[in-house]
Amino acid sequence: MTPRGWAVLTLAALVLALLVASALLVPWHRPPAPRADQLSALRELPADQVARAREFRAALRPGSYGALLVGLLVALLLGLTPLGARLVELAGRPFGDHWIARAVLGGLAVVLVADLITLPFAAWRQSVLTRYGLSTYGWSGWAVDLLKSYAVSAVIGAVALLGFYTVTRLAPRWWWAFGAAGAAGLVVLLSFVLPVLVEPVFNRFTPMEQGPLRTELMAMAARDGVPVRDVLVADASRRTKAVNAYVSGLGPTRRVVVYDTLLREATPAEVTSVVAHELGHARQRDVAVGTLTGALGAAAAVVALYLLGSWPPLTRLAGVESVAEPRAFPLLIALVTVAGLVAAPAQALISRRVEARADAHALALTGDPVTFEAMQRRLAGVNLADPDPPRWEYLWSASHPSTVERIAAARAYARKAGG
Ligand SMILES: [Zn+2]
Repeated sequence: MTPRGWAVLTLAALVLALLVASALLVPWHRPPAPRADQLSALRELPADQVARAREFRAALRPGSYGALLVGLLVALLLGLTPLGARLVELAGRPFGDHWIARAVLGGLAVVLVADLITLPFAAWRQSVLTRYGLSTYGWSGWAVDLLKSYAVSAVIGAVALLGFYTVTRLAPRWWWAFGAAGAAGLVVLLSFVLPVLVEPVFNRFTPMEQGPLRTELMAMAARDGVPVRDVLVADASRRTKAVNAYVSGLGPTRRVVVYDTLLREATPAEVTSVVAHELGHARQRDVAVGTLTGALGAAAAVVALYLLGSWPPLTRLAGVESVAEPRAFPLLIALVTVAGLVAAPAQALISRRVEARADAHALALTGDPVTFEAMQRRLAGVNLADPDPPRWEYLWSASHPSTVERIAAARAYARKAGG
């Protein structure tokens, strides 16, 4: 069998593994959140708060969708015309057209061009956040964070580009197999190191100070059977007024993080409710499952890029001989961008199901739907979330159930627990 034949077979196996993993590991059945409860929860929210949140979300929309559209157009323009290949050549020229210069500098140049063209949209977003009082730092703080994120992406990108094009040179017929294994390995590695290497670039993390709240949270984690060494507090207030918490990392790097804004804004009981939700993620190994499916997806993407990228009409459009050469990187980016847009609703759906399960865990662990509901109201109020967003936007991009869905789930839980 030819390498191409093996690639088709491998892709089929990876897609099958992804489907089986999602069928078995995604909690497709969600706890009930009756629409009648959602609507009554919506009516009970202060009307001016809902109006202001909707106004805020509407103000963000042109920037978000503009960035999406322009980003797609730039990716297609660079990837499906010889323009991108020429940009890669240009980046390699000062270095005698050496392949490493083309691979790394050319690749980063393509990403940088796309970033710079969408920069005005990012600035627009920041101006809206400032206008609505959610952002707490000025333009200089924003610019520093932006430069930091460019630097982090450049380092990770350079490693990935160098590794990828070394493999395409060493194994011209089988690079897709090594590339798939490498991409999967990179996803796993990033899950381990992001919390200890990347997150500290943007925030300072300190153990939560000793006191009744910390004692209560550690006791709850122990009761839940989730080994948590510590609850970390992130200094999110330097950037935002928004409140949040999350779990990240795997094994030795796993941590529960709460924003300092949450500790400032919410009551201790509400913080407990949020951490109970995060413990749900830890208990269900949501980070590990996300890493596994991410690794399978990355491997499948590399094989699919090999198969699709060597389709002659595409390489002809891009003005390249083979998808394996650095000059074809813009073509890869165009394909990845389109795939990302197509996959977005499915990813959002899976995320909402996983989040609904963590909510159910929080309700069962605390047995306190009243505080859970109060916390949801506070989250929506402080973060200016639309409690019941437009259906199309919800389906397209919502990573969490809406505020009214989460409140309705708490009410349904309360009825079941009470009766
Ligand atoms: Zn969550």
